[in-house]
Amino acid sequence: MHPAPFAYKAAHSVEEALQLLRSHEDAKILAGGHSLIPALKLRLTQPALLIDISKISSLRGIRRENGKLIIGSGTTHREIEKSHLVAEASPLLASVAPQIGDVQVRHRGTFGGSLAHADPAGDWPAAALAVDAELVIAGAHGTRTVHASEFFTGMLTTVIQPDEILTEIKVPGEGTPGIYLKHRNAASGYATVGVAVTATHDHGRIGTVTIGVTGATPVAFRASVVEHALNGHAVSAHLLDEAASHAADGLECLSDIHAPAAYRSQLVKVMVRRALGKLLHA
Ligand SMILES: Cc1cc2nc3c(=O)[nH]c(=O)nc-3n(C[C@H](O)[C@H](O)[C@H](O)COP(=O)(O)OP(=O)(O)OC[C@H]3O[C@@H](n4cnc5c(N)ncnc54)[C@H](O)[C@@H]3O)c2cc1C
Repeated sequence: MHPAPFAYKAAHSVEEALQLLRSHEDAKILAGGHSLIPALKLRLTQPALLIDISKISSLRGIRRENGKLIIGSGTTHREIEKSHLVAEASPLLASVAPQIGDVQVRHRGTFGGSLAHADPAGDWPAAALAVDAELVIAGAHGTRTVHASEFFTGMLTTVIQPDEILTEIKVPGEGTPGIYLKHRNAASGYATVGVAVTATHDHGRIGTVTIGVTGATPVAFRASVVEHALNGHAVSAHLLDEAASHAADGLECLSDIHAPAAYRSQLVKVMVRRALGKLLHA
């Protein structure tokens, strides 16, 4: 199917993109286009204008500042996958990037585009929650910073307003061990369930565990019940079994042609247990 007709403008600065957004009511930001173009083709969205931000160099790149990784929203999945800075500072992000789509998708799709799209099966939302990322959003009155826990508001929706742009993502970068495990849909490669975990531990005692889960529910979430059951306790297989068995408590899981809710719910528990076991060696 062909998209409905639309106009196209390439912005060369964030200010220009914001100006275009302000002066065109029915405009949409185009980053890597790997979620937006399929949606246009299916006519799920029919904006009058696409504002291409992929040529804005200030939105791209990875640097370290005050103990944090600062990743431009237009940085591609592949750039994150290949980054030595990311590998060193955030093993969790380094674990997520190579699991997204295929190499072609990773060369075009962007970190910020994926977060802004908030696909319930997207990989980055789980990781952003687990690392407690801060998302910097630019608008007419300057910038505001939102924690990942407040960023995702529902299926395909975030706190980004129609006249705003996600510009960069700040990620704690102390090298905390982390891992992303994904049960892929066999056809699409998207997460049926994906689990992003970070954990510190010292001499057999758990410090802090964070767990982000995607794919199971309309919006990615932190498995706080499991985190609280683990933090500060001595590592044991029994403890991990017990904590992970509560990972789906109270969840209303998605049900579709790919997996019924009961399957996703069971998968959440299994994947959380596996990820914890890999990180905490139990
Ligand atoms: C074949 C295929 C396989 C894929 N597999 C996976 C997978 O396994 N896992 C996964 O997580 N994803 C997967 N994706 C999606 C891919 O990761 C997309 O790149 C990503 O979801 C969107 O990023 P984008 O840069 O392409 O954004 P776009 O498609 O350009 O934009 C997506 C949405 O976000 C908005 N937007 C983009 N950037 C900004 C910004 N800076 N500020 C405000 N709004 C913005 C756009 O207006 C649009 O609404 C796949 C895609 C394809 C085509």
